Amino acid sequence: MTHVAVVGAGVAGLSTAWFLQEHGIDVTVLERTRVAAGASWGNAGWLMAGDASPLASPDSLRAGLPGPFASSAVSVPLRADPELYRFLLRFARHCTKAQWQRGLQALLPLSNSALDAYDVLVAGGVAVAPTRSRYHLACFTSTPERDSYAQHLEHVKTFGARVGFELLDGPQARAASPVASDRVLGAVGLIGQRFVDPTLFVPALAESVVERGGAIVVDAAVRAVRDIGNAVDILVERSGQPTVRRFDSVVLCTGAWMAVLARRFGVRVGIRAGRGYSFNAALSVPVEDPVYLPERHLACTPMRGRLRLAGTMEFRRPEEPLDPRRVRAMVEAARPMLTGVDLDDRTDEWVGPRPVTTDGLPIAGSTTSPRVWCVGGHAMEGMVLGPVTARLTAQSLATGRVVRELLPLNPLR
Ligand SMILES: Cc1cc2nc3c(=O)[nH]c(=O)nc-3n(C[C@H](O)[C@H](O)[C@H](O)COP(=O)(O)OP(=O)(O)OC[C@H]3O[C@@H](n4cnc5c(N)ncnc54)[C@H](O)[C@@H]3O)c2cc1C
Repeated sequence: MTHVAVVGAGVAGLSTAWFLQEHGIDVTVLERTRVAAGASWGNAGWLMAGDASPLASPDSLRAGLPGPFASSAVSVPLRADPELYRFLLRFARHCTKAQWQRGLQALLPLSNSALDAYDVLVAGGVAVAPTRSRYHLACFTSTPERDSYAQHLEHVKTFGARVGFELLDGPQARAASPVASDRVLGAVGLIGQRFVDPTLFVPALAESVVERGGAIVVDAAVRAVRDIGNAVDILVERSGQPTVRRFDSVVLCTGAWMAVLARRFGVRVGIRAGRGYSFNAALSVPVEDPVYLPERHLACTPMRGRLRLAGTMEFRRPEEPLDPRRVRAMVEAARPMLTGVDLDDRTDEWVGPRPVTTDGLPIAGSTTSPRVWCVGGHAMEGMVLGPVTARLTAQSLATGRVVRELLPLNPLR
């Protein structure tokens, strides 16, 4: 039986392992730390199908990239880091309307079938199912802001995005969500969306991989990958002990760390950590549906009786510690917009590295070696798009025929 190693046990790696198993492939996941040690832990868990826009867009530039290099939402360290500035320059070059439209067209086939991939996972034994929301409620402090977001949605619909929504005024928004404060003067209620608690879903995905006969090896840092012609040799370090393991192929799903192993296989797409923060705040009212505060760049998701607030894009190395100032900035940005949420009673403060590429598109497919594959680079949309990308990549690897939807995501582009 074909034996494939998957490096990285985030949502991309575990979904890849799971979908490879659908093709009768034996899988071993090698993870440096533990399951969901990277971005796949404290994220907002939104499965926003239909509106998967590339991160590289004229709007990203307006939000502070790379212009002033700082805003409430985007943060870039002032210390000299030539590699980071090169990355941001390449990113900024992709922030044109034409590139954004090309990116949108590349993402739409994935986005439109993202929830199907979740349905397959759940039907196949993953024990945690996404929750369907009545609305994902995007709240605004003015009707012009609300209408401009609605226009954006209408615009992406003209490209084929399957996203439904309703316009709400302030009182309707407050009726739809008990946490919308009286500063909310208009809202867009997105229909047919889902969300998931990643701290429950990703471990459930890992359990399912193991139940179906796969192995997950934690504390296993992959130091090097070598194509030896008919197989790959992987240098794995466990508790300081290096060993070489042989597999038929390997899929690199190492998130923001992708370049470390992928570069020697011709992957030149820049990839860096766009770090996001989250915390869970106490609630004095029951909340059922997610709330989005676009003007504050914050997503709020009900999780286990609390409200998770997630946001910020901070370009620092993935290993650097959490910066409490970012959490405070999120709290102050959210405060006027929310009611019934005690933002001073916080648990689970977290920072995690979104894998951001220079062109805002994910990376999926084989490299200069037909035995070395990559899946990742989903930036803000890895929870929603990770499983569908993994599904298509597993199909390509198993059949030897690249699926059309993956062509724009070619790791060698
Ligand atoms: C604040 C925040 C909110 C977000 N909200 C959403 C959302 O609502 N919806 C959505 O769709 N997406 C969201 N995202 C994005 C999403 O979380 C990411 O795109 C996704 O989790 C990336 O998954 P991944 O598997 O590619 O990477 P990761 O989850 O980072 O996994 C990579 C794994 O590889 C391991 N690894 C790295 N190098 C090695 C090595 N050499 N050897 C072995 N293992 C290695 C790491 O330890 C890690 O476990 C959010 C992200 C953040 C930060």
